Amino acid sequence: MDGDILLLLQLQEIDQKISSLEKRASEIPKEIEKLREEKENLVLKFEKVHTELKRLQALKKERELDIQTYEDRIQKIQEALDKVRTNEEYKALLREKAQVEEMIMETEDEILSIMEKIEELEKEEKQLKELVEKEKVEIEKKIKEKEEELERLKEEIDRLKEEREKLLKQIKPALLSKYELIRKKRGTALAVVDSDTCTGCFLVIPPKLYSSLVKGEQLHTCPHCGRFLFHKPK
Ligand SMILES: [Zn+2]
Repeated sequence: MDGDILLLLQLQEIDQKISSLEKRASEIPKEIEKLREEKENLVLKFEKVHTELKRLQALKKERELDIQTYEDRIQKIQEALDKVRTNEEYKALLREKAQVEEMIMETEDEILSIMEKIEELEKEEKQLKELVEKEKVEIEKKIKEKEEELERLKEEIDRLKEEREKLLKQIKPALLSKYELIRKKRGTALAVVDSDTCTGCFLVIPPKLYSSLVKGEQLHTCPHCGRFLFHKPK
């Protein structure tokens, strides 16, 4: 096989490795971002429950103070009842007492339902806290692994690029620029000839060209797609 084609083959192999590693490397930051979002959402969920719990605990305290106020009021009504002179005054005080007692009952019901919600949320908060702690560790571990993978990829890409530089020095500049041109246009600049077909464009190449390729006399390009052709002896 022609020496030039061997160099181009090596170059193509390096270029394909670089491009596949670069593709992988470009995906990693997005994956890390997604993991960070996952962690943040979990923390937010916990904070939401935590805030609601604090609100309900404050509300419960407020309602308990309301009951205290109502009870003081009843105490005062009771004292007034002992000193009352007229029947109407007596009736009015009893009505007011009944109203305040009604309010106490309603408020007690409300406190009970707040307490039920608090109990549920406390359970949820506890579960979420455990989950957040567990997931935080897991997610941070995954992020670290991805960062390390990216680091390794970058090192490998740098190594391949150095190798590429060395190889370029051995390739004739005109050939190299043709290679770059075809690669830019077609994605790959070299194609294997299988039987009499270019595996780059899957078109049949002329018999004369094919026999010259088999003999490995000189460098040829596909008359259809322009890729450099090489023939692998079976
Ligand atoms: Zn072709």
